[in-house]
Amino acid sequence: MLGCKNKNRGHKVRPLKIVDIREAADAFRDLLEIRSPYLDIVKIYDFVLPQIDVTVDVCTEEELGENHGMTYPDTGVIKIREDVYRRAGEGKGRDRFTLSHEIGHLILHTGIALARGPDPSDHKPYEDSEWQANTFAAEFLMPVEHVCATRSIAEVAKRFGVSCDAARTRLEKLKQQGVLK
Ligand SMILES: [Zn+2]
Repeated sequence: MLGCKNKNRGHKVRPLKIVDIREAADAFRDLLEIRSPYLDIVKIYDFVLPQIDVTVDVCTEEELGENHGMTYPDTGVIKIREDVYRRAGEGKGRDRFTLSHEIGHLILHTGIALARGPDPSDHKPYEDSEWQANTFAAEFLMPVEHVCATRSIAEVAKRFGVSCDAARTRLEKLKQQGVLK
């Protein structure tokens, strides 16, 4: 089980490179035959995930507490806090990112053995479950092929329905990786 708060560190998991996560996100887009830059993430939750035997459980704040979402990759269950789900439906970037993040856990973290009592200082970002799910969320919501056609943070935020922070981070990282000039 992977509970997702607003924190940077999760469990220690099998290391993954950015390119591997990008490939997984692109493959999932292909599988769903999504060609548009903008991803209707709530539609995926409502109609697509149930078709591939994923159970989406929208929970009260009482049930999930400070977790925005919680994913059980091995049983194919995603729990989302109802306020997060509602705001995602209204197009709020931060909450759309959370929904995409949970799909990242589902796809990347099936069958993994989670390290017990993780000490946040003892593993690298690329072997951290939260870093990996965040990386997936960015790749899934903002595919490289479409980001390449955009120029500014504001344009990325608008085109992909993400927060300005997420758009800025995406552009910075792609420049660091030499994908964008
Ligand atoms: Zn998470």
